[in-house]
Amino acid sequence: MSTAGVPLASGELRARCPRSLLDLGSDPSPTADVDGLIPVILSWSGSRIQSVKATSEATGLVLPRLVEPHAHLDKAFSWNEYPNPAGTYPGALAANFREHETRSAERVQQRAERALQLAWDHGLRAVRSHIDSLGPAANCSWEVLSALRARWRERIELQLVALVPVEHWSTPEGQHLAAEVAQAQGVIGGVLAPPCRGRATRRALRRLLELADQHGCPVDLHIDEAASHPAAGVRQLLRVLESMSLSVPVTCSHASSLSLLSACSLQRLATRMARQNLQVVALPLTNGWLLGHRDNETPLRRPLAPIRQLQRAGVSVAVGGDNVQDPWFPGGRLDPLALIAMCLPLAQLAPWDDHGMKPFGTDAARLMGLAWDGCLRAGAPADLIHLPEAGWPELLAMACPRRVLASGHWVQDWS
Ligand SMILES: [Zn+2]
Repeated sequence: MSTAGVPLASGELRARCPRSLLDLGSDPSPTADVDGLIPVILSWSGSRIQSVKATSEATGLVLPRLVEPHAHLDKAFSWNEYPNPAGTYPGALAANFREHETRSAERVQQRAERALQLAWDHGLRAVRSHIDSLGPAANCSWEVLSALRARWRERIELQLVALVPVEHWSTPEGQHLAAEVAQAQGVIGGVLAPPCRGRATRRALRRLLELADQHGCPVDLHIDEAASHPAAGVRQLLRVLESMSLSVPVTCSHASSLSLLSACSLQRLATRMARQNLQVVALPLTNGWLLGHRDNETPLRRPLAPIRQLQRAGVSVAVGGDNVQDPWFPGGRLDPLALIAMCLPLAQLAPWDDHGMKPFGTDAARLMGLAWDGCLRAGAPADLIHLPEAGWPELLAMACPRRVLASGHWVQDWS
């Protein structure tokens, strides 16, 4: 019973859980099969998992509620009005600017509400959204999304990132924005696109990092989202970081052009990134669609963060869905299972491998600094995605019913 005398919800289920998302405490972990799954019996009472025990046999899959480490709620669902049929980066940017001119509090409200509802329905528990924070709609976007963050707090943790050109943080307006971001417990963001040469870039980056440190705000940059100038932005960032000390986490979102480096150069760079505790969010869908896009040609190179090489060097990598039906990417639906399915062929990430599952689970949760790392264990939140009839093939075929448990209550039941 709860203290108010209202009975607490409780329940139990038997299913198979990916080994990398499971913590059986002092029990010896049984060996997972070739599919990387361990049959368990999970029980919960109230909003917490009471026990997780290995068992001999189970069907179906159980995952923790998952997280989206990189989204853009302020422009979601704007493709129909502002399409980018050529599918190029400059085309997306131009359409984004045109759309931004018409952005209003009402539109941002509708888009973000619709996106959060989808995220909730699909089993997401946290979303980090970058917000265009310079231009006519910047203020109203922050007001609307801050209010939504408060309203959705019990269901989804929403993190807000101020997205502006890196140089903006060196201006008086940038300093003012940093104070506002800190007040809203937000994240300092920025765009660093090639060629990123020279002292001016490093000076701007240093100012951004100093401001973030001063306000205690994490940093999350759009960096090297390009099909040329391999790692130009990350190299400048490393030069700055190696000459200062910083107490806040720094995330490199995209890092796509790193895959164009030679194997040796990449290894050296990844070692330096690990030494500076840089984290990476790989975004296979938007990168796969936009980068290197040319008329009448099928791309021969696919710039995408080199996930495995970074992981091997000790860099923590998360995978995000990025854009949802906007000029940057016409698809997307804030569905973590669809993202896992699409990353199998795009990034050769197999969910039965620990390194293939962690970027969607524990590594993404840690990158976002969430209180729960997303491992199913006694005492963790009773937050689950249950696929009663699925193994990996059914999940990867995106054709299986799911149920979502949040704080010990079934909130979605598509079975
Ligand atoms: Zn983005």
